[in-house]
Amino acid sequence: MNFYKYKKKMIKENDWRRQGQEKYLKGVKLFYRKYKPYSEEWEHDHCEFCGEKFSEKEGEGLKTGYVTANNYHWICDKCYKDFKEEFEWEIILP
Ligand SMILES: [Zn+2]
Repeated sequence: MNFYKYKKKMIKENDWRRQGQEKYLKGVKLFYRKYKPYSEEWEHDHCEFCGEKFSEKEGEGLKTGYVTANNYHWICDKCYKDFKEEFEWEIILP
């Protein structure tokens, strides 16, 4: 018996954070970056899974996270850890 295999954390199929992200986030490259808004008109963003806020403002929101190459889809550390195996992300470190 391979117990290690069963100890690996699996996120339930009906986890509330799932919203069909696999359509655009499965198997993509993610960059670990300091948060920067996608557009100059935006000042914050939300985690693609849990909705946690990312913001450049002092004392507000997360400052770093995992993001797609175009700086558009942000994922917080926790959701990254929870979904990384399933989504097979390739991580590009700075
Ligand atoms: Zn999250």
